[in-house]
Amino acid sequence: MKKKVLITGAAGFLGSHLCDKFMDENCHVIGMDNLITGDMNNISHLMPNEEFTFYHHDVSKFVHVPGDLDYILHFASPASPIDYLKMPIQTLKVGSLGTHNLLGLAKAKNARMLIASTSEVYGDPLVHPQSEDYWGNVNPIGPRGVYDEAKRFQEAMTMAYHTYHGVETRIVRIFNTYGPRMRVNDGRALPAFFSQAIEGRDITVFGDGSQTRSFCFVSDLVDGIYKLLLSDYALPVNIGNPVEITIKDVAEEIIELTNSSSKIINTELPKDDPKVRQPDISKAKELLGWVPKVDRSEGLQITYEYFKRVLS
Ligand code: UDP
Repeated sequence: MKKKVLITGAAGFLGSHLCDKFMDENCHVIGMDNLITGDMNNISHLMPNEEFTFYHHDVSKFVHVPGDLDYILHFASPASPIDYLKMPIQTLKVGSLGTHNLLGLAKAKNARMLIASTSEVYGDPLVHPQSEDYWGNVNPIGPRGVYDEAKRFQEAMTMAYHTYHGVETRIVRIFNTYGPRMRVNDGRALPAFFSQAIEGRDITVFGDGSQTRSFCFVSDLVDGIYKLLLSDYALPVNIGNPVEITIKDVAEEIIELTNSSSKIINTELPKDDPKVRQPDISKAKELLGWVPKVDRSEGLQITYEYFKRVLS
């Protein structure tokens, strides 16, 4: 029997890659998205396939799916800082009410549920690198609080359904991820830098660019999520690439890769922007035998090809 998988946020960056992965694994995939940040172009190639079904639906409202379900992967949410500034209430609702609805669905269907949590649960971290036992440093009422606190609530709700109702749950804490299908104008560093470099505009480095991030290529992330789903581990697991770099250095790498004449300009650093971020992936290595395989030069090259195509 084919496994039946519900993926929320199916038309988004990560959701669409997960749809591809589960189709490749010979599953029946139900993709769900309300398309406020998703893009049907990301899954248009799957639409003719009869093993793929799409529902245009907001998971903050009651979720109905007919028949059996084996797995639910909850990836619906605005996920870039400018998106959650524009859509604070939707961001809070999809992480809280949406998660509650989907956990209820998982319980009713006896399905295993994996939620997309985030390195943002660590906030502007005071511990470096971040391991899963760090509780974080989050400003609940700052501009990022709507995302961070929704995701922290999501983890708490998921653990409660696990311990109280016995629902099989998995929690992945996703660190910065990049690759094809990122939205060109989603405001995050890599789409911004690539589009600015390709179009010869100034590269907007926020602050002095000394803040760090650790960028994971999307195929590595999908591989880690798949392994976590199939494991029997219910506590949170970091998935990300631990190779850390300053934002200024990423901007310079992209200028060089694209052979661009763009110049870096420094603009104001957004409030509560984390100064450092690097995953401790010991747990993923030990439990899942997972390590990232794609290095930044290869990943950036593939991502460059994508942005060149969509911007042409
Ligand atoms: N950033 C930047 N210029 C941009 C967009 C982002 O310098 O045009 C910085 C941002 O301030 C942060 C880092 O790049 O320090 C990563 O930002 P992103 O929005 O990609 O994700 P975050 O890790 O902050 O959620």
